[in-house]
Amino acid sequence: MLCTTCAGKKVQKVENADKCPKCYGTGEHSDVVGEICVQCMGTGVQSISCKTCNGDGIQQNTMTLSVTIPKSVDTGMLLRIRDKGH
Ligand SMILES: [Zn+2]
Ligand SMILES: [Zn+2]
Repeated sequence: MLCTTCAGKKVQKVENADKCPKCYGTGEHSDVVGEICVQCMGTGVQSISCKTCNGDGIQQNTMTLSVTIPKSVDTGMLLRIRDKGH
């Protein structure tokens, strides 16, 4: 699913952000006409890589993982593997 923090834009807005230094706030690519600025993803303001999705734009659903593999089962399997090793 798309990251809810950045809505798939891969960037996070910064509070009181300055104009993007690459496009000077226009949000347009400095070299390619019609393309958006890759630095700010066309927002025109300085932004940082989204921390929720690590700049992927996709949200990893860790909740499903923890439900599928309960911690008790996981620990039990680990102990069994360790016993075999000895
Ligand atoms: Zn994100
Ligand atoms: Zn920009």
